[in-house]
Amino acid sequence: MFDVIVVGARCAGASLAMLLARGGHRVAVVDRASFPSDTMSTHFLWQRAAFRLRDWGLLDRLHARGCAPIEQITFDVGPVQMSGIGLGVEGQTAVYCPRRTVLDTVLVEAAVEAGAELIDGVVVDDVVWADGRASGVRGRRRGAGGSLSLRAPLVVGADGLHSTVARRVAARVYNHHPPLTCVYYSYWSGLGDVRASFHARTGQLILVWPTNDGLTCIYVGWPRREFARVRTDLDRSFHAALDLVPGLRDTVASGHREQRFVGTADLPNQYRTSVGPGWALLGDAGHHKDPSTGMGIADAFLSADLLAEAIHSARAGRPVDDALGDYPRQRDQLTANGFELALNTARLAPLSNGLTAFYRAAATQPEVVERIFGVLGGSVPIRDVYSAPRIASVLAQANA
Ligand SMILES: Cc1cc2nc3c(=O)[nH]c(=O)nc-3n(C[C@H](O)[C@H](O)[C@H](O)COP(=O)(O)OP(=O)(O)OC[C@H]3O[C@@H](n4cnc5c(N)ncnc54)[C@H](O)[C@@H]3O)c2cc1C
Repeated sequence: MFDVIVVGARCAGASLAMLLARGGHRVAVVDRASFPSDTMSTHFLWQRAAFRLRDWGLLDRLHARGCAPIEQITFDVGPVQMSGIGLGVEGQTAVYCPRRTVLDTVLVEAAVEAGAELIDGVVVDDVVWADGRASGVRGRRRGAGGSLSLRAPLVVGADGLHSTVARRVAARVYNHHPPLTCVYYSYWSGLGDVRASFHARTGQLILVWPTNDGLTCIYVGWPRREFARVRTDLDRSFHAALDLVPGLRDTVASGHREQRFVGTADLPNQYRTSVGPGWALLGDAGHHKDPSTGMGIADAFLSADLLAEAIHSARAGRPVDDALGDYPRQRDQLTANGFELALNTARLAPLSNGLTAFYRAAATQPEVVERIFGVLGGSVPIRDVYSAPRIASVLAQANA
């Protein structure tokens, strides 16, 4: 018997399992994958994600596995480019881009080290109920076969966008916006000292990130409606997008693509009801958004912290449903700004004349550049930079 069963052992599930096990809970964390394991996701970690890893004592482990801090990013909107880094979060200014094979393994190892029981290679098919409450899961082992049944008074679905747990508990979707983009990415070796950069163009978004093992991850996003066209001739579509950034196609041609392209158009923007009798949802299972702003991992860490806090307070004597009730409210509040930013970014809309003038003015004011990067990273509210009075003040300063 466990106190908590967590289904899914990546950014959300492994983090929660680690925090709960550190707090003395008996935790089982189940995943159909075995680690190290890759997944469909790039892996940009803004300051608030890096801060959590540091706080959990895991940032040094990323360093030890060859993941270098990124101290400068270029933000390029076509007519204007600016370089910098966002305002730090609790003194954490550098950002990181660890492969998921590395990041998820560090988290899983930390969960096991803290005392969580990792049950990998098991697919969870169903939630078990007793007296109207979730009370465990049923699953089957991959490969060799065989079934498995686990019991706990709390089942957490950290099993991603297509969460089986969410389906079995009939979690309701709310604040839903259909997919706005489709994306493809891959990894190149031999590109030299490539800087992290974010290039926004009308109808396209091109992201370039140095990652582990001397590789560079390049990600292109297009409007969702173009998915059929893009994948019909993916190589050509991808390289046509690179042409929108001066010099990028030549840089890429000087290296070697190390992996096949990976992509998807299955990128809904939504929340799900995330607590019920004996169950909770975490990470993408509870809230999913377009990856254009690279915030899913940071939000999975945030949610793991919030849910762990709620579960700790239930253990300390607060009625469990009451304690868990705070978690989705706090999550929705703390992710609202990033959700709005992801929706705005994923529209891949043309840059208006007004915004072009604003960016030109901002590029000459280092403290404004820092705040623009802070918005991108989710540590500065959008309205603190893009409200009409703030824009007017930046324009006035530039004209002074
Ligand atoms: C193309 C793309 C690029 C992205 N880029 C970034 C980025 O740069 N930065 C960023 O912060 N975010 C990014 N994201 C978002 C990020 O990938 C997610 O927000 C993050 O992975 C969510 O973590 P999670 O643990 O909730 O879910 P997941 O990472 O999806 O993990 C779910 C786990 O549950 C397991 N599982 C599922 N069903 C079952 C089952 N029935 N039984 C047992 N196990 C099960 C799976 O095997 C998996 O290991 C990107 C997403 C995409 C699609």
